Amino acid sequence: MSGDILSLNNIEVIYDNVALAIKGVSVNVPQGGMVALLGANGAGKTTTLKAVSGLLRPERGKVTRGELRFLGQDIEPMLPQKRVQLGIVQVLEGRRVFEHLTPDENLVAASAVAGSSHKDMQRGMDMVYTYFPRLHQRRTAQSGFLSGGEQQMLAIGRALMTQPKLLMLDEPSLGLAPFLVAEIFEIVQKINRQEGLSVLLVEQNAVAALEVVSHGYLMENGRIVMHDSAEAMKKNPDIQEFYLGGSEGKNFHEIKHYSRRKRWLS
Ligand code: ATP
Repeated sequence: MSGDILSLNNIEVIYDNVALAIKGVSVNVPQGGMVALLGANGAGKTTTLKAVSGLLRPERGKVTRGELRFLGQDIEPMLPQKRVQLGIVQVLEGRRVFEHLTPDENLVAASAVAGSSHKDMQRGMDMVYTYFPRLHQRRTAQSGFLSGGEQQMLAIGRALMTQPKLLMLDEPSLGLAPFLVAEIFEIVQKINRQEGLSVLLVEQNAVAALEVVSHGYLMENGRIVMHDSAEAMKKNPDIQEFYLGGSEGKNFHEIKHYSRRKRWLS
């Protein structure tokens, strides 16, 4: 579809030539849009992101069906570096930063890997520190001593140094206090709006994600089971029950059991 920076059409991924991890996955991110991919642990969200960034190969994963287009180009045959050059960047789950380096050094390193000019590096650092003033205050501290929230900000900052057109975030809320999650998501939303950067946000935390995106996709067992506006998803009774806290008090096994009777699967 024109107007989409990213479009996945009917994608299937297999690990180790046998394990089918995602099937028939179609996801679109509009140019300049901010979209969430929601779902529980193991639903296939990370696999979907890795199909886009090209990071399946080291894990012996392979896109075996479907079409992957970025700005209209078929990116499936491209190596990960080439996809970064085109403007695709993935912030991996777990806030990976160089812990022995300072935030300043981390940002310079990210810029060097992207092959940016000195001027672009300066501009990138100014931008990162403008959006993340908290990080600016800690710019010369050893990154291993930053808080979880600050490390997540730095991981996003490193991605921004590659001058991306599409930022893909994998579970940025993981292990962070709710106020910090809200702060980080609001900053990402601000970057999305002010810089026109398209964002694909992968989250288990549907509550926080649906506050900042325009649309969401819900994944279960390797398939997309729902796609709607954020407003409609927030109001959906199934989403409310299973992803917005309505299932509080039920244990995981019970949630799994109940999930078999969800309306969208019947
Ligand atoms: P998480 O919250 O754990 O990141 P997820 O929704 O991102 O969950 P994936 O990590 O994409 O889910 O996993 C989807 C399916 O693919 C799971 O069944 C998982 O066991 C399988 N899988 C993921 N990585 C591999 C791998 N490297 N080799 C084999 N199977 C894998």
